[in-house]
Amino acid sequence: IISVSRVTKDFGSTRALRAVDLTVEQGEVVVLLGRSGSGKSTLLRHLDGLERPSAGVVEVLGEDVATLRPAALRALRGRVGMIFQRFELVPSLTVLENVLTGALSRLRGPRLGLWAYPRSLKLLAITHLERVGLLEKTYQRADQLSGGEQQRVAIARALMQDPRILLADEPVASLDPESSDQVMRLIREIAADDGLTVVCSLHQVDLALGWGDRIVGLRHGEVVLDTTTDGLGRAEVMEIYGRVAASTA
Ligand code: ATP
Ligand code: MG
Repeated sequence: IISVSRVTKDFGSTRALRAVDLTVEQGEVVVLLGRSGSGKSTLLRHLDGLERPSAGVVEVLGEDVATLRPAALRALRGRVGMIFQRFELVPSLTVLENVLTGALSRLRGPRLGLWAYPRSLKLLAITHLERVGLLEKTYQRADQLSGGEQQRVAIARALMQDPRILLADEPVASLDPESSDQVMRLIREIAADDGLTVVCSLHQVDLALGWGDRIVGLRHGEVVLDTTTDGLGRAEVMEIYGRVAASTA
């Protein structure tokens, strides 16, 4: 469902990715692990068509991302949901309105206010809010929610796209351990229920080991580890990953 082959990305004189190879099958839950600056966000942005590789090929859902015309790229991005470390909600809007913005790619033109969305989408948004356990917050302003709740709103927003793939860029980096657990469990639950493919960047080894099916380690833009977590111990990851991120692990 995702195929990255020999992808290199340069920003000016900075090489963010070096000949990265990564294949992800439908339904896999993959963790990208690596210290700050190792290229996690850059790789995720390629999978959503937000960046084009300097060299190499990125295929998502069978499409070569670099060759797509804008309309086709938008359609592809509609099948890929993304959540971020800083949630990226609109603080002054209600939870429901924030979730509804996830459907904007399906509608023509901007939508200002709840009245501008069809009833069917509002019902769908409410269904997703129920799934993430936030039904009772539907009409609260987004900025009144805790971090963990805001991330759950962002998940509901991503679900409005009816995605096949969910990309998560350090989704729990700004959350306390308890909310982190809750958010990570929720992502797994939804992925299993909907058969989603998930690629999630993290920088905590222990969280990654307990959560992902597979770990891909990045170091200076290079893949230095790619293995299933089955029977993989912390020491084993640290042996390889310790060089990668001794300071952040
Ligand atoms: P973090 O854990 O801090 O989020 P990361 O693993 O996500 O780090 P990236 O954000 O992918 O790392 O950055 C990889 C490298 O590419 C860094 O050296 C960064 O400075 C550089 N880089 C990323 N995006 C850009 C950009 N738009 N312009 C210039 N340099 C960039
Ligand atoms: Mg990043």
